[in-house]
Amino acid sequence: MTTRQLNRRDVLKGSIGAFAASLVLPRLPAGATPVRHERRRVVVIGTGFGGSVTALRLAERGVQVTLIERGLRWPSGQRDAFPTMFKPDRRVSWLSETNTAAGNLIPSQPWKPYTGLLERVKGNGIDAVCAAAVGGGSLPYHGMSVQPRGDLFNRVMPGELDYEELDTRWYPYARANLGATPIPDDVLASPHYLSSRRFAEYVKRAGLPDAHGVPMPIDWDVVRREIAGELPPSISTGDVIYGVNGPGKRSLDTSYIPKAEATGKVELLTLHRVNTISRNQDGKWQVTIERLNTDGVVLEHVIFTSDALFLCAGSPNTTKLLVRAQGRGDISDLPDGVGEWWSTNGDLITTQIVSDPMGAMQGGPANMASLDWDNPEGPVSIIFAGIPIPVDAHVMETIGIFIPDGHGRFTYDGATDQATLTFPPEAHGPSMAAARRRVDRIGKAGGSLTSLDMTAKDPTTFHALGGAVIGKVCDAYGRVLGQPGLYVNDGALFPGSTACAKPVSDDLRGR
Ligand SMILES: Cc1cc2nc3c(=O)[nH]c(=O)nc-3n(C[C@H](O)[C@H](O)[C@H](O)COP(=O)(O)OP(=O)(O)OC[C@H]3O[C@@H](n4cnc5c(N)ncnc54)[C@H](O)[C@@H]3O)c2cc1C
Repeated sequence: MTTRQLNRRDVLKGSIGAFAASLVLPRLPAGATPVRHERRRVVVIGTGFGGSVTALRLAERGVQVTLIERGLRWPSGQRDAFPTMFKPDRRVSWLSETNTAAGNLIPSQPWKPYTGLLERVKGNGIDAVCAAAVGGGSLPYHGMSVQPRGDLFNRVMPGELDYEELDTRWYPYARANLGATPIPDDVLASPHYLSSRRFAEYVKRAGLPDAHGVPMPIDWDVVRREIAGELPPSISTGDVIYGVNGPGKRSLDTSYIPKAEATGKVELLTLHRVNTISRNQDGKWQVTIERLNTDGVVLEHVIFTSDALFLCAGSPNTTKLLVRAQGRGDISDLPDGVGEWWSTNGDLITTQIVSDPMGAMQGGPANMASLDWDNPEGPVSIIFAGIPIPVDAHVMETIGIFIPDGHGRFTYDGATDQATLTFPPEAHGPSMAAARRRVDRIGKAGGSLTSLDMTAKDPTTFHALGGAVIGKVCDAYGRVLGQPGLYVNDGALFPGSTACAKPVSDDLRGR
């Protein structure tokens, strides 16, 4: 049976479950996949930045939490934990025969679907690539923790958020918890990081604001040991796109999640994919879940009823759950803005071939940034990301983060019972062209004659934001308006931009 057939059948069962009042079990034909129905106090969906922080903070206050994750728990910190850029395999993709990573240049034969690391949420105009694993986006992400400036923050973010408080309390708190510090001078001076130094040189020549190291959740002593040959290289050779094969990166599965588990209050369920959410007649929250094996086959249906439900499935999937619940009538009176104010954080990934040697196996993760925030053309952060190519091809890859001019949205299609993303080309607007001009200036300063816009070649984002935005759908605490006990606590809260910073500042919601 294919995944699609299973999904269609499971949607039906999910809807039966959703409409079953309180503890009444849905009736299923004999021989069907078993159904288990249980009661919980608090259910948190997703173990990324939002979910792991939510689980930890609730558990620290003595609340028993059931933390649900569709993906696997990976052996982070160990050798050969993850696929590598030049040897991708089925572990890359979330239940897909093809490589779901954005801008992937390595062709591979169709593989047997697996509960792998990256889901590609297909949309009209753009696809959103998001993580599927315990620790969410913290496994594949680079981890640049740029803090936006107050004026840019206030230009984008809902008025309900107080920048002063974030600046003095929560940004430093999140940086400290992630152990995020900039690349030290001695590491930057090593041959592995020649490409980062060249980038800084070209930025200066281009007349843009000087490039500086930005805080990264990296143990730089581990990188020093890699450079000294005491540890096999991983971070220092930049092969981090699917996760770091060794120690040194403070992903959530090695930081917040073990802390949450150590409270004894957190029940973590992996390979549990939430299908629907609904409110029952008693005002309790009901979640229908498919328990999967690693081939994606549904082994069991689980229905949890809880007093409180936290949606932390990341912007695309939290939004899909809410939009479907609204479209199917599973939750009545959801705010009108559900699904709206979605965007990409202004991603512009560009590869340029410069005239100077840039080194093979360039040191990672992305570590230096020029923050061009006062330019009359509009603000942009331009970040250098080392590439693990085994030969020196003079390659310079940069990630531009600007403020998009418009938004896309998720809408419900009753015929397919799906929530679908639409992102109009004009949503990136003139701001994208203005950002591209500055990225190209840096390349030209390095003698580049070509500029390959990976974002145009394969329209995708790694940085989905919005869909259940503060001030429209939720209050500043993530409480969904008019729905007691229902919360959103992830990237869906922010209106399609984090103001030229990286979206992982989502982590700041320690409120
Ligand atoms: C390849 C890649 C590179 C990135 N690089 C950077 C970077 O360098 N810097 C940066 O700041 N940001 C980066 N990001 C973005 C960053 O990872 C996200 O902004 C951040 O993880 C969002 O946090 P979140 O809590 O909203 O969601 P996520 O971290 O995405 O967590 C959501 C979790 O919910 C789970 N989930 C989803 N749907 C369901 C369901 N139906 N049932 C059960 N579980 C579900 C997912 O498996 C996932 O674990 C990158 C993202 C990707 C994918």
